[in-house]
Amino acid sequence: MTHTHCPYCSLQCGMRLERRGRAALEVQAWPEFPVNEGALCRKGWTAAGLRGSRERLTSPLVRDRASGELRAASWDEALDLVAARLTALRRQHGPDSVAVFGGGGLTNEKAFQLGKLARVALGTSQIDYNGRWCMSSAGSAANQAFGIDRGLPFPLADVEGTDVLVLVGSNLAETMPPAARHLDRLRERGGRVVVVDPRRTATAERADTFLQPVPGTDLALALGLLHLVVAGGGVDEEYVAARTTGFDVVRRTVAAWWPERVERVTGVPASELRALADLLVGAATVTVLTARGAEQHAQGTDTVLAWINLALALGMPGRESAGYGCLTGQGNGQGGREHGQKADQLPGYRMIDDPAAREHVARVWGVPADSLPGAGRSAYELLDSLGTDDGARALLVFGSNIVVSAPNATHVTRRLEALDLLVVADLVMSETAAMADVVLPVTQWAEETGTMTNLEGRVVLRERAVAPPDGVWSDLEVMAGLASRLGSPVAFPTDAEEVFAELGRASAGGRADYAGITYDRIREEHGVFWPCPSAEHPGTPRLFAESFATPDGRARCVPVEHRGPAEAPCDDYPVHLTTGRVLAQYQSGAQTRRIRDLPDDGPFVELHPMLADRIGAHDGDLVVVATRRGELKAPARVVPTIRPDTVFVPFHWVGANRLTNDALDPSSRMPEFKVCAAAVRT
Ligand code: SF4
Repeated sequence: MTHTHCPYCSLQCGMRLERRGRAALEVQAWPEFPVNEGALCRKGWTAAGLRGSRERLTSPLVRDRASGELRAASWDEALDLVAARLTALRRQHGPDSVAVFGGGGLTNEKAFQLGKLARVALGTSQIDYNGRWCMSSAGSAANQAFGIDRGLPFPLADVEGTDVLVLVGSNLAETMPPAARHLDRLRERGGRVVVVDPRRTATAERADTFLQPVPGTDLALALGLLHLVVAGGGVDEEYVAARTTGFDVVRRTVAAWWPERVERVTGVPASELRALADLLVGAATVTVLTARGAEQHAQGTDTVLAWINLALALGMPGRESAGYGCLTGQGNGQGGREHGQKADQLPGYRMIDDPAAREHVARVWGVPADSLPGAGRSAYELLDSLGTDDGARALLVFGSNIVVSAPNATHVTRRLEALDLLVVADLVMSETAAMADVVLPVTQWAEETGTMTNLEGRVVLRERAVAPPDGVWSDLEVMAGLASRLGSPVAFPTDAEEVFAELGRASAGGRADYAGITYDRIREEHGVFWPCPSAEHPGTPRLFAESFATPDGRARCVPVEHRGPAEAPCDDYPVHLTTGRVLAQYQSGAQTRRIRDLPDDGPFVELHPMLADRIGAHDGDLVVVATRRGELKAPARVVPTIRPDTVFVPFHWVGANRLTNDALDPSSRMPEFKVCAAAVRT
């Protein structure tokens, strides 16, 4: 019996794996693990299904130059070939001719090692990862406001104690169902749940108050609420004076956002806005949680800052059962952004342009600080530059299915085609692996050990339960094999616990300090919350009780203005397109679409009966959604729960992201996945 965690989302539900026969696994509940108390969603219960998949890759594949087909190769042949071609490219075009792309599902150890591979073995600045597309706007806002980016600065269960919980752009009842029990318990003890979403989702059905704004207007909604809080004398002046800076400017900024103006922009009736402001002002404790619906916008950072300003005005962050948090999406969305996969960061959430941070990490790695490259391009910008005069000519991909998950995906696919060399490490032949020159088959969750950091900042341990199939290597072994062939000046350990100890030393003294966390402690304590700077330190479940992580200890209120989405509807593209997830699938679907027991109905287009009438579509008819970047044909799902001016497409299949907009948030570089102008027709 092995105690471990689900392979998918950021809740990182605890589960037990029981061996059945030689290699089969059975998922069982782990009731003692506090985050999910034994509950799992459908994806978790069926997680062992991928192990039996015939589609599992078990041999490296190399594209044959003559036939253009992929053929089986030995590990030596595949890695020798990759290393030789990377070395030639670096010699001819410099180190930045090689780029690395990681994922928010990689363990902390892999994310750390991938950053080291890029900066030490390859010497390239060109590394980023798909987590840039997940929670980076919330991260950017939290860094600005609080001086630290930990998605939830408190355990998730704390929301049960809040009087009013405001969920902005989160459908947690479908994306992480075990978390929805906190909403039920909150309501049982008399608390209120507020959901803000353009769709009346399963989460909205559990709410007391539901606001349905036009996609891309959550920022204006927050400004309008703060306007009413200020006008109604609801600001906690004592808290604002003692614990924040900059509120006076914010107070002036929101003065122009009277409710009728907000109604015109958001479509939310002024009466509903007033009722919600009254509810917030009258509550002893308020918790605001944002997720991708609010964050994946060209104004995502400002949108989150507007909701943080509201929480600060009410005096909530740092108070018990109150505050602001972000519900991270990917399994290691939190840890994946802390240990060096990001273009501008070094392990421990250190910034790569900070001389002291460079010195510290270089010392741990055993290389001179001036050998480390500087900041590279953000995820979309990196992909957009591939194969151009200025961009990389080779790309190594670990834990990401770019062809499905990148915005403006047709364009990104063309950039991948323009590469001299594409190398993909994956479990299965994902859409991105199918394009690669070299495919490297790697272990999956139950076959390897490593840590993840869940949405609460709790570091948990996934334990190996079964040996991998013959022919499969761990990502750590692949990175070590490449590093030695590239002539790395330092060692790349392949034992996850050894890598974690190095990560701990590299993170020591950084914002995300893991120095005091060990595998044994995680096992004994059901996870350890960072920062945890020493073996004696208990970890930090709750942040901000005394002060914020800014130089003066105060939260910063940052004035923001609503500009609206990068694309407004027009005559040719008159409706809003928004995208999201469904219960039975996860991210690009590379894993969940291959699990027999999970329904795979393919993409669909959700639209309101009024819109369906207008275009002459009935439920189940094939309809076409078109944007300036592409088209998608899929069956209509006619539902009264979506705004009549909006269509929704899930993004787990090829197609949805051919439609989405690559406009970037100026601070986080998050693409505007969540809204663009579209046309829909039969
Ligand atoms: S909620 Fe997330 S972590 Fe929990 S079982 Fe479902 S997919 Fe896995």
